[in-house]
Parts: sequence; structure tokens; C-alpha cells
Amino acid sequence: MASYRGHLTFAGLLGTGYGSLALLEWNWDWGPAIVATGLTTLGGLLPDLDSDSGVPVRELFGISAAVTPFLLFPRVYAHFRQSTEQTIVVLGVVYLFIRYLLSHFFNRFTVHRGMFHSLPAMVIAGLTTYLVYPSPNIRLRTFLAVGIMLGFLSHLILDELYSVDFMGVRLRLNKYAGSAVKLYSKSWPATVATYLLLVYLLWCVWQT
Ligand SMILES: [Zn+2]
Repeated sequence: MASYRGHLTFAGLLGTGYGSLALLEWNWDWGPAIVATGLTTLGGLLPDLDSDSGVPVRELFGISAAVTPFLLFPRVYAHFRQSTEQTIVVLGVVYLFIRYLLSHFFNRFTVHRGMFHSLPAMVIAGLTTYLVYPSPNIRLRTFLAVGIMLGFLSHLILDELYSVDFMGVRLRLNKYAGSAVKLYSKSWPATVATYLLLVYLLWCVWQT
């Protein structure tokens, strides 16, 4: 398994390449380019969100808790008919929910390298980005969704390569619930829940 730093470096480089596509191919400005770089890098860190190794995980939850209210702002603001106070309260609750409740839930119920470390989880990350990113531009949202999935995939592949090449043997099944690039896990409730979420998000995208 590659280290946190290894994933950060690899996904960061990949993200820089991917982000520059926005500048070079489509003549977008630096905004989308840097957001794409950031999301690709984030995607490269996401699969290990369920490891209990402390700092990086806490940091990721801290970032998600801060960024999500920011992304939701326009929608919530519109929903509450431009009431700033109600919007602040709701987004504050979202922050606390992600920072404390969701992170607690994660540590408690996920197994490292369980379903969060899989191909369907990669698609879930992409669909979520597509759905929550506050822009009417479908091409931009698709671009960013692909970015986060690319980073996610780089993480899975890197883990897989490490387990084969650098250690000479695959990680034992009982220790890490199987291969890094996988479609299902030993736990069928986790597998079913993941696919249900995937189908639900696909349906949401279909509705937009
Ligand atoms: Zn990993």
C-alpha cells in the first residue's frame, strides 16, 4: 500500500496535468484549471478516508466539512429566500454534521480498504461532485467529476501495484479485505449499500 505522501504526490502531479487541459485545450481560465487540480488530488486521498491512521483522515474531514457548506451556499440561500441568518445556521449544521457526526460514523463503521476503497466508490465520488458543484455548466461539472475519479483511480491502481511489485506478494485477504481495485467486498451489507447509493446518485443525475 502506498503511503499518504505517495498518493498525495502522484495524484497532485496527475491533477496538474489534468488541470492544464482546461487551459490548453479549452481555453478556460485558471479557475477551473486549479479547481480540477485540487479535486484530482483530493480524489487521490479519498479512498483512505476509512483508514484509522489519524491526521490525514481528520484533515480530509476538516476540509470536506469546510468546503461542503461553501458549495451548498447558493442553493441553500435560494431555498431560504435569501435569508442570510437561516442560511448560516443550516450551513453551520452541515459543517458540524460532517466534521463530527459523519467522521465518527466513518471511524466506527468502515473497515480500512472496505467498500470505500473500490471502483463503485470512485463513481460515487464523481457523481457527487457532478451533483453538488455549483455551476450550470455541464461540461465543467463533468470535467471536475472525471478529475476526482481520475485521482481516485490513481490511488486504487497505485495501491494495487504496490501490493504486487514492491512487496512481492499480494496483501493477505484477511488483513485488507482483498484487492485494492475491486467491485465488491466481503461484507455484503456494505456492498449492497454502496450500490444502492450509486444507483440513487445515477438517478439524481438523470433527473437534472
Ligand atoms: Zn489506499
